[in-house]
Amino acid sequence: MDFEFSAEELEFRTRAREYIRAQCKPGVINEDADGTRFVDTPVRREFMRAMAAAGYLGVSWPKEYGGRGLPLIYDYHLAEEIAAAGAPQIGKGVGIIGRTLIAHGSEFLKQQFLPKILNAEIEFAIGYSEPDAGSDLASLKLRATREGNGWRINGQKRFTTSGHFADWYLLAARTSTEGPKHKGITLFLTPMKAPNIQVNGMPTLDGERTNEVFLDNVFIGDEYVIGEVNRGFYYISEALDFERHTLFSFAMLERIFAVYLDYVRTVSRNGRPLRADPVVRRTTARLASEVEIARMHSLRVVDAVVHGRSSNIEAAMGKIWWSELYQRIANAAIEIAGPGGWLKLHTPEAPAKGYFQMLYPSAVLPTIGAGANEISRNIIARRGLGLPNPT
Ligand SMILES: Cc1cc2nc3c(=O)[nH]c(=O)nc-3n(C[C@H](O)[C@H](O)[C@H](O)COP(=O)(O)OP(=O)(O)OC[C@H]3O[C@@H](n4cnc5c(N)ncnc54)[C@H](O)[C@@H]3O)c2cc1C
Repeated sequence: MDFEFSAEELEFRTRAREYIRAQCKPGVINEDADGTRFVDTPVRREFMRAMAAAGYLGVSWPKEYGGRGLPLIYDYHLAEEIAAAGAPQIGKGVGIIGRTLIAHGSEFLKQQFLPKILNAEIEFAIGYSEPDAGSDLASLKLRATREGNGWRINGQKRFTTSGHFADWYLLAARTSTEGPKHKGITLFLTPMKAPNIQVNGMPTLDGERTNEVFLDNVFIGDEYVIGEVNRGFYYISEALDFERHTLFSFAMLERIFAVYLDYVRTVSRNGRPLRADPVVRRTTARLASEVEIARMHSLRVVDAVVHGRSSNIEAAMGKIWWSELYQRIANAAIEIAGPGGWLKLHTPEAPAKGYFQMLYPSAVLPTIGAGANEISRNIIARRGLGLPNPT
């Protein structure tokens, strides 16, 4: 069994690490969040432009589209180094939108969007989910009706993260009600700030902002349809496959565990070091083993990607483990810190300066986002184990 990366990959990783850390000027690392949160600030945009200038955006895009043409595993290395530094994640443009356009977009769309994505000049939001279509995305209702040389859009989206600052909106709309529901969905791009698109903030319990979006008679020309009409559901699934190996970075979990570990190692309660408490020791040893299991899960996803196999099952198992372990770490931290653990982030006298209070609600999102864990379990049962769907 060989868990080593190649010399070229390690060299890439070292250079990326040095470069990323050099670009982490004050304010770039978001000290108020866990690393999954996507916020828009001038320093984040500056950081992304610096990443673009050094060729770190689109490393695995084909050279003909301005990428470096490196294997997909380099995206993984980059995502891990970004997460290890606590730096902002690369936005949706490089992964979901860029790759979908490269695979299925027209020349017009490629020319309009790909250079801007690589130069970090453009921000996107993704409009898939609706009030009655989350896990069951194929049930989406937002309607696109044929009109002249384009489509008239009406309906509502929910959970459009980044919708309040994005420039463009990747929209999944129903273009056909005949046949199986997943065969009647089309992907569009539309400017986010159009007058008949209303974006209303929805705060999440960890203080992030996501959005509800209402589209009222929005017109989208045919040139902004991605790929073939009614094939959108396939493109969405494909894009998620591209992203799976970078979504839940092991380094982020490692960073969170490091804060917990530092607390346990250094703090005393009632004159006794926490590290001497048998319950704390047992909990910490268990979590440390589970963090190593998370590393193995992430390597299994990477291994499938590198060898061109579907990573569906590995990614589903890894996502469940990653997100539920995050909750176990957050729970243990809050329990061990005691009542003071609930003091707000940055409170000087709070355990770990209130980091655990931030962590606890943040740990809810990953079990829901990018497909709820129950859906991942269904994938393992059906595709991995061949267990039929309940009737
Ligand atoms: C903070 C945040 C940001 C998000 N950002 C975006 C974004 O930018 N763009 C976007 O399009 N979406 C986004 N989402 C939406 C996200 O993808 C959905 O929340 C997710 O797909 C779950 O859908 P739902 O919330 O409608 O829950 P539901 O699908 O209604 O599920 C509710 C519960 O039922 C369970 N369940 C559902 N179906 C089954 C089943 N078949 N078997 C067993 N259990 C089941 C689920 O696991 C869950 O526990 C975001 C969500 C959050 C919370």
